[in-house]
Amino acid sequence: FSSVPHRLGFGSANPTGKIPLGLKRKGLRIVVTGGAGFVGSHLVDRLIARGDSVIVVDNFFTGRKENVMHHFGNPNFELIRHDVVEPLLLEVDQIYHLACPASPVHYKFNPTNVVGTLNMLGLAKRVGARFLLTSTSEVYGDPLQHPQKETYWGNVNPIGVRSCYDEGKRTAETLTMDYHRGAGVEVRIARIFNTYGPRMCIDDGRVVSNFVAQALRKEPLTVYGDGKQTRSFQYVSDLVEGLMRLMEGEHIGPFNLGNPGEFTMLELAEVVQETIDPDAKIEFRPNTEDDPHKRKPDISRAKELLGWEPKVALRKGLPLMVSDFRQRIFGDHKEGSN
Ligand code: NAD
Ligand code: UDP
Ligand code: UDP
Repeated sequence: FSSVPHRLGFGSANPTGKIPLGLKRKGLRIVVTGGAGFVGSHLVDRLIARGDSVIVVDNFFTGRKENVMHHFGNPNFELIRHDVVEPLLLEVDQIYHLACPASPVHYKFNPTNVVGTLNMLGLAKRVGARFLLTSTSEVYGDPLQHPQKETYWGNVNPIGVRSCYDEGKRTAETLTMDYHRGAGVEVRIARIFNTYGPRMCIDDGRVVSNFVAQALRKEPLTVYGDGKQTRSFQYVSDLVEGLMRLMEGEHIGPFNLGNPGEFTMLELAEVVQETIDPDAKIEFRPNTEDDPHKRKPDISRAKELLGWEPKVALRKGLPLMVSDFRQRIFGDHKEGSN
């Protein structure tokens, strides 16, 4: 070990190293790396509500204590400030590995995806925990197949500005499969498509959070390029349901988890205008390098093997995010909630 690791937990690891998944279990010990972040904190809410004991491991790079503060004082909840690039000793049954600098402004030059994933796989191997990796649709790069199936190998520039994230997650998938084949670790891989909802970072540059914050602040919506590039936007509760089904199910994946509803950025801007402010202006900006032209998940595999599909359409989910953003931007006292 390169540093003195934490040794925390609820007791000894499952002696068999395996959990009888067919049985109804109570009180699993689950670590959620990145659990103070946007997706992670919603996952933690569901796990705690189900009666599990949850340890959140987060270095607060983009996550916030506020996202999990409502669990403070609950004996089934523990929060550890820790960078997963450093080794970590815990005794747990399941690992949801979400820690990752997830947006373009944060992810450059960070070894989390490779070293952090390696450490969490080493942990899973040692204690016999099941390990779920949250990979990304970015592994498909600028896809030449549309919509993208899990069998598609992708079209990624290895030396571009986004490569650190794309290739980092591709490497994380490789490590995950190697630990499965080589060390018998039980693994699951989710490829997550663009997800939005309450608790998203307000200023991390992603398109939904940018447009919503801009419309609320009466600033123009910044559309990059010609705005004809497409993305498919999934509401966070649908994603969390998919992640939990994947973890509990018998299939390794990878599974695409995303909403197949596809929108151009101009269409998204229109939905934001409809939802928040019909008078919001649109301002065109130069696009970033290597921006994927289109992206839409083929979710047949998840439908068939996990019995999962998204339920919340963009026009239903967006207002839920808007009221959260309104509160965080203006505080409770200003403007009504949406
Ligand atoms: P987020 O930034 O809100 O959450 C990531 C969390 O990881 C944060 O709390 C951050 O502080 C923590 N973290 C980062 N580096 C860490 C480190 N070295 N050690 C410990 N903690 C660390 O992002 P999110 O949207 O919630 O993303 C969660 C996961 O889902 C990520 O792995 C991301 O790649 C994946 N994903 C998200 C989307 C999306 O649209 N939100 C799409 C594809 C994949
Ligand atoms: N690791 C960890 N927690 C553990 C077990 C391992 O953080 O409980 C880290 C360990 O520091 C190593 C990585 O996981 O860097 C891979 O561990 P593994 O045992 O697979 O490899 P080795 O240490 O044998 O190279
Ligand atoms: N985008 C935009 N305006 C913004 C931020 C992003 O038009 O203010 C575009 C961006 O160029 C990309 C799409 O929206 O084509 C999605 O960007 P995001 O960073 O949200 O997700 P990703 O590119 O990782 O799918």
